[in-house]
Formats: sequence, structure tokens, C-alpha cells
Amino acid sequence: MTTNVTEQPKTIYLPYMCDHVHVMASALNAHNLPAEVLPPSDDETMAIGLDLCKGRECSPCFVTTGDLIRRARQPDFDPERSMMFMPTTGGSCRFGQYNVLQREILEREGLGAVEFMSPTGSNSYQGFGNNPTRLRQLMWQGIVAVDLLQKLLHEYRPYELQPGQTDQLYQQALQRVMQAVEQHGGKPLVAAMQWVAQQFEALPVDRSTRRPIIGLVGEIYIRFNEYTNQDIIRKLEAVGAEVILADAMEWFYYTNWNYKYRSRAHGRFGQFLSMCLTDAYQQHQERRILKPVEHLLTFPHATPVGQLMEMLRPYYHPELDSEAVLTMGKAIDFARHGLDGIVNIMPFSCMPGIISAGMSQRLRADLDNIPWLDIIYDAQGGTNINTRLEAFMYQTRQFQRRRQAASALAH
Ligand code: SF4
Repeated sequence: MTTNVTEQPKTIYLPYMCDHVHVMASALNAHNLPAEVLPPSDDETMAIGLDLCKGRECSPCFVTTGDLIRRARQPDFDPERSMMFMPTTGGSCRFGQYNVLQREILEREGLGAVEFMSPTGSNSYQGFGNNPTRLRQLMWQGIVAVDLLQKLLHEYRPYELQPGQTDQLYQQALQRVMQAVEQHGGKPLVAAMQWVAQQFEALPVDRSTRRPIIGLVGEIYIRFNEYTNQDIIRKLEAVGAEVILADAMEWFYYTNWNYKYRSRAHGRFGQFLSMCLTDAYQQHQERRILKPVEHLLTFPHATPVGQLMEMLRPYYHPELDSEAVLTMGKAIDFARHGLDGIVNIMPFSCMPGIISAGMSQRLRADLDNIPWLDIIYDAQGGTNINTRLEAFMYQTRQFQRRRQAASALAH
């Protein structure tokens, strides 16, 4: 990782992928590393990315490149005093090459002095910043809290009595969480979650008719980024769904699982034990932050990643790595928890997305033929998405009825 943080730290620019980035910036600020979240991607940043990339990249690369370059082209931007935050990973995924390409582009633009902060998923983001353990722990707490806020948002919004109230409350809750992270998390963060619980308890909702529940899985960037997924969650809600989004925590637990698996396989038992401790710490923090809001959630606990991998094993070897294993493992988990449909989203030409879409027929055959929709996003903007979602929701209602009838017969 390139940090090179001097006595006067540089400003770290983080592309806005989703609200989790705000708490990461809060954690950096808490560690006296000035951080700024870039404005959300839009048509302008997509156009910049398409213009500068080579054309064979996936869409998260276009927009993150566009976001960084738009900032770098602004007159007040000082390359000597700036650092771009762009994590990386090993393995087959193109994500590992984003920062390489972006450095090249910045150089071409005459901005080669800009440094990168690139923590890597290959070692489960160890060595992150100058006080790596504390910073990583703080970021983790913030990520858990935002995951929980989003779960609440998605479980309450479809049933709210006053349109817009849940979104408004979510924004207030996010601000509280960011402030608590700036105060180094811990007790202030638990207090913020207690406040959140009180507010959601008081939110007027009507759940007399339960909507079909859809599990949203797929590539992590597009799953969370509303610009690139064309606001898929709101679109699903508009056609009658309640959505459970595969959370961000699972990715971090997956990198832990992967690291543990590989260190044990190569006889590096010290590293294995150290990751076991990290994993235990993260689970402990998750339970602590979850506790105040747990009673409000239908699916408060995520199934441990190790179990997801075991569920997947009859279909696909988890050691083959890539996000495909998480997408498929989570889809199986959702179906076994009684959800009514799966939406799997991916960028155009995403290899893990192509694998999971290719495997979907096989998985569905063992999952009572649960309705399953693969959506591929290119950089051109979709056309017929609403019609496809309406047809899909019709299938989920049929599936829901069929299952209810089967359950009534069984009793
Ligand atoms: S998972 Fe797919 S979209 Fe994401 S970086 Fe890798 S190849 Fe690109």
C-alpha cells in the first residue's frame, strides 16, 4: 500500500460508491488523515471514464476513474497534496488493475505526482494507514453500522405511511453514525444505534400485507452504487417488492475466510491464528452494534461466510475464489430462508457475474425453482428494466402462492 503520510497529511479523495464510504472517510478523519468523499458518479463522470479507459474494463472502472479525474481536473486540485483512495485485490478480478490504470491515466494528464492509497483484499486489508489496527477496527465498526441502517431502511420504507419519512430518518441516522465514528466509535456508536432504534420504533408503518421479499445479490460495486444500478432497489419497491440486500460485511468476512483458508493450506499457522483473532473481534463488534436494533430486523444475523461456502460446495468449489462464490452462496442462503425471489446484478462482461448467471439454472433446480432474474448493466443505460421487473414480480407472487398452498396442504 502506498501511504507515505507526512507530518502534513495529504487530502485523501474517496470515490463515492455508497454510504459506507462516508464512514470510511470519518474514520480517516478521526485518525487525522483528512479525507473527502467525491460527489456521486453521474453522466459526466461516466463520459470521462469512457473517454479515458481502453473500453475493455468493467463499468465500476469507468465511473471511479471518471470521479477521480473530474476532481483532479478542477483548478484547486494540488497533485502534490492529494492522494486517491482506490483499494485493490489479487486474483482474477479486474478490480486489481483499476489503480494501475488510473495511475497511468493521471500520468498522461500530467498529474503523476498524485499518490494512491490502495489497501488490498488479498491480505484482508491489513496494513491500512499508519495506525493500521485501530483504523481498520474503526472502519469496520462504521461499515457494520451502515449495513444495519440500510437493512432498516429497506425493511421499513416499503411499508411507510408517509412517503419519504424513512429516507429522511435514514439520512439523520447516517449523520449520527458518521459523528460517532469521528469520535472513534465504541460507546458513542452504540449510543447512536440506540437513538436509531428509538426513531425506527416510532416510525408509522403498515405491514398488514407483506410484499414478496427479494434477495439482491451480485457484484459488490454495482449492488451498492445507485447510479450504476439505476436505483434498482427503489425500482423493485415501486413494483411491489421488499428487498433484502446482501450486505457489505459479507465481503470483509469473505476476505478473512479466504485468508484463513490459504494460510492454513500453506502451513502459515501464525497468520491463520492472527486472522482468527481479527475475525472474532469483528464478530464481537458486529454483535455489539447490532444489539440496539436487532429486535427491529426480520433477518438480523447474516449466515457466517464459512456456512455459505459449505452450502455452495456441491455446486461450485469455493476455493475457486472471486465474487461468484459469494453471489451464489448468498442466493442459496436467501432461498433457504424463505425469500420469494433472487435478483442477481452484474456489470457487463463481469467474469464472476457471468459464472453466477451461468450456474443459476442448476441452483434454482434445487431451490424449488425460485424466481431468479439476472440483470446485466452496461455503460449505456438500460432500456426495458421496468417491464422485466414487473414480469419478475408476477412470478414471485405466483411462487409465494404456490409455496403457501403447499404449506397449507402439509398441515
Ligand atoms: S467483480 Fe466484475 S465488475 Fe467487479 S471488478 Fe471484478 S470483473 Fe469488474
